[in-house]
Amino acid sequence: MEKMQFKAESKRLLEMMINSIYLQKEIFLRELISNASDAIDKIYYKALTDETLSFDKDHYYIKVVADKENRALKISDTGIGMTKEELEQNLGTIAKSGSLAFKKENESKDGHDIIGQFGVGFYSAFMVADSVTVMSKALGEDTAYKWESEGTDGYTIEPYEKEEVGTEIILKIKENTEDETYDEYLEEYRLKAIIKKYSDFIRYPIKMDVTERKRKEGSESEYEDVKEEQVINSMVPIWRKNKSELTAEDYENFYNEKHYGFDKPLKHIHINVDGAVRYNAILFIPENIPFDYYSKEFEKGLELYSNGVLIMDKCADLLPDYFSFVKGMVDSEDLSLNISREILQQDKQLKLIAKNINKKIKSELQSLLKDDRQKYEAFYQSFGRQLKYGVYGDFGANKEVLQDLLMFYSSKEKKLVTLDEYVSRMPEDQKYIYYASGDSYERIEKLPQTEMVADKGYEILYFTEDIDEFAIKMLMNYKEKEFKSVSSGDLGIEAEEDQKNTESEEKENKELFDYMKTILSDKVKDVRVSKRLRSHPVCLSTDGDVTIEMEKILSAMPD
Ligand code: ADP
Ligand code: MG
Repeated sequence: MEKMQFKAESKRLLEMMINSIYLQKEIFLRELISNASDAIDKIYYKALTDETLSFDKDHYYIKVVADKENRALKISDTGIGMTKEELEQNLGTIAKSGSLAFKKENESKDGHDIIGQFGVGFYSAFMVADSVTVMSKALGEDTAYKWESEGTDGYTIEPYEKEEVGTEIILKIKENTEDETYDEYLEEYRLKAIIKKYSDFIRYPIKMDVTERKRKEGSESEYEDVKEEQVINSMVPIWRKNKSELTAEDYENFYNEKHYGFDKPLKHIHINVDGAVRYNAILFIPENIPFDYYSKEFEKGLELYSNGVLIMDKCADLLPDYFSFVKGMVDSEDLSLNISREILQQDKQLKLIAKNINKKIKSELQSLLKDDRQKYEAFYQSFGRQLKYGVYGDFGANKEVLQDLLMFYSSKEKKLVTLDEYVSRMPEDQKYIYYASGDSYERIEKLPQTEMVADKGYEILYFTEDIDEFAIKMLMNYKEKEFKSVSSGDLGIEAEEDQKNTESEEKENKELFDYMKTILSDKVKDVRVSKRLRSHPVCLSTDGDVTIEMEKILSAMPD
């Protein structure tokens, strides 16, 4: 039997592939620049072992030139170039990566800086271009070649005149349509911004001829536009630098440059991990609550880089909800550039990184609490609520991580205290961790229910936020001490003698109590003698798990 080959409509396939991988058109530039950077890397790696080759840093760069008149965008590099065969194989075959092959061949050497491996990035050029021309001269070859394609019906290759080794790619930028504009990809400011955004940390200079308004020579008042070649990218990312080289100001500048926030960060966390998974990260705990933080609009996430190239603005999978306030970035060479969101979620490396980061944030917060109480309290005022939501959410799965980070206002200390501090101060006869809920510290202070506990000399935690009691209910206990609301029926304090007195008083006043119960029949379940009151004649208490404060919140919730 004859075996037939599947035929695919190449244009449709190309469109489908590009549209499913890339969400934004602008990333075509990122892809082409990454390829250029890979091509330079390849010469660099070759030079490491080939004595006839030298690597003179100044000679290696990437250049982006826009020609508005001809709607042409040119990206050139002085990298390793492509032979005729390589043009055919690498650009003529979708999902063929010359870079992956190179990495495999050079496994033993330090080739892991090279970005490409999927063999699809190049085709993203067709998102913005009607045709793409690639002129390339490979290292060690005499002839250069020109590869040309309109994306649809294949490509042509012919010999070409080119002096220098390297590659030049010209995109014929599409005309604007009714719902898409392409002009922006010929605008200097826009190209600069895209390079800054995605390729700021490419190791080689990315140059552009930038127009600058300059004072005319010899003139005081006349200005003229001058074209000047500038390097757009900053090349060495701060996260690759040694921590000891960096000052607090460097981190603050980075925080502001990156628009993580307009405030000053409260704390930065710089992580360099070189283990089972390699990554660098710089994380920040902001000082102020972002204006939309406690709203539905807020999107958590860290910037994700693959080897210096931005692949995602807000990677949500890197942060648990309870640490959603953390800002910053992660860079890993173990991630692929053209990875899609769906694949990313399954990515083992990413999961490892997320776990790692989570641990690190926790331990950094703990040391902040230990070493700089004032700062921790400032942090807690802003984001403590989120930690409490974290305890409550996921059916309490995160309580181990979070319980030591919680703080509540203390009746004794008149300030925020941790549960650990509370428990370590507990007198031996105290069974429970007591708490009282109310609208404000002042109002809680005046609650009749607090009197008995306070009289015993026990500390009470004041809960003023809706989430407090719910979080505590989820915790259930801390260091084996259960939580107890001061308004619950059994406080675990009454002495036995008191118990007898209560019974007899209850009998003596049975008629009065019965009368009260009938009058209040739709409001209370029972009327009893209480031993916990000192200066107040009466108080309300609950005997179930749900306190009055919780009931208020629950009944205010929409069904
Ligand atoms: P990837 O970068 O994931 O390998 P691409 O589709 O971006 O896939 O590129 C395909 C291949 O084409 C690369 O692996 C590389 O071999 C080759 N290539 C692309 N651009 C260049 C360039 N500027 N210089 C040299 N080779 C290149
Ligand atoms: Mg690529």
